[in-house]
Amino acid sequence: MVTSVMPTYGRIDIAFERGEGSYLYSTDGRRFLDFATGIATNSLGHAHPHLVAKVQEQAGKLWHVSNLYNIPGQQQFADRLVANSFADTCFFCNSGAEAMEGALKVARKYHFVNGNPEREEVVCATGSFHGRTLATLSAGDNEKYREGFGPRPDGFKHVAFGNLNEMRAAMSDKTAAIVVEPIQGEGGINPASDDYLRALREIADEFGALLVFDEVQCGMGRTGHLFAYEIAGVAPDVMALAKGLGSGFPVGAVLASEKGASGMTPGTHGSTYGGNPLAMAAGNAVLDVMLEPGFLATVTENGAYLRKALESVAKRHPKVIESVRGVGLMQGMKCVVTNLDLMTATRDAGLLTVVAGDNVLRILPPLTVSKSEIDEAIGLLDTAFSAVTAK
Ligand SMILES: *Cc1c(COP(=O)(O)O)cnc(C)c1O
Repeated sequence: MVTSVMPTYGRIDIAFERGEGSYLYSTDGRRFLDFATGIATNSLGHAHPHLVAKVQEQAGKLWHVSNLYNIPGQQQFADRLVANSFADTCFFCNSGAEAMEGALKVARKYHFVNGNPEREEVVCATGSFHGRTLATLSAGDNEKYREGFGPRPDGFKHVAFGNLNEMRAAMSDKTAAIVVEPIQGEGGINPASDDYLRALREIADEFGALLVFDEVQCGMGRTGHLFAYEIAGVAPDVMALAKGLGSGFPVGAVLASEKGASGMTPGTHGSTYGGNPLAMAAGNAVLDVMLEPGFLATVTENGAYLRKALESVAKRHPKVIESVRGVGLMQGMKCVVTNLDLMTATRDAGLLTVVAGDNVLRILPPLTVSKSEIDEAIGLLDTAFSAVTAK
């Protein structure tokens, strides 16, 4: 008999009842250091006092109104995202997949209104993940996720991530956009090189296509920069955000330049919940914290501290870990043994981690993590890796 919750997940048998900062407390009385953060989503940890206060305050006033009306919190959030990014305009939605759907619509509509309706094709990268809706499954590179779901939204091509020759060869006068994650998350924490991102910008411009970045996972401070594209100094035309944007409150956004968004006129796109007052209170509260002077510099500093410590753990356990990769507080450990076994072992030791493609174990602490919590996590990794080696 089917379970009342549709069994689409392989679930770990733990439930959490409370969180505080970098820690989660389970219903059976255990405490875990959370370096998975709801998969890069609880960007400011659990029960952050400023977020709790702002969301509680808004919850007592107004949760939801339709986008038929002005929403001051939405205006404010958009203004702040625009002021702190390449973008001139933002559309709000509720998830990463929706943000990517929106980004794809923005890109195709741009060409449609600019006299090139034949430009529908989107060139994507191998190893990419863009969400679980039908179109984002076509954009992503996981055949298993697509299987059995009927006709696929077409107009998507895949070329090897990092390979400029393949990218160039895939471009044509039918290309609407290039879509990449500046750091692939689900694919296994694969950072694109700065040169690759810069070259994508040039290729997109040369072929008259738009450049779309999926920063759903790598954006919102995770790299020590508010957005990962800043590292290479390459601005996209369109960008999708979600995960860390609401620190666990469901908020997604499509950011675009004025040019990129030139097709998006009243009636072209919409969302019932997108940008509602409660979500915007959460998003604004996240920005309050992330834009505080020194916040991102601390992420960079702690990211470097974490990276160094992970590399020394890897060196101590060569039979378990092959290498470490990533940027800032978005790190991955390429495993020698099965990543799922390691995730279980770290959890048994009291540390939550999460697996990714390419047999990688992801290390995604809250951006508010302290050095002593990083030290504690490293101790737990040592314990877990020793336990795995002893087996
Ligand atoms: C998680 C993720 C998505 C999908 O986000 P959902 O909120 O699960 O729809 C899209 N792109 C990237 C890069 C992601 O990491």
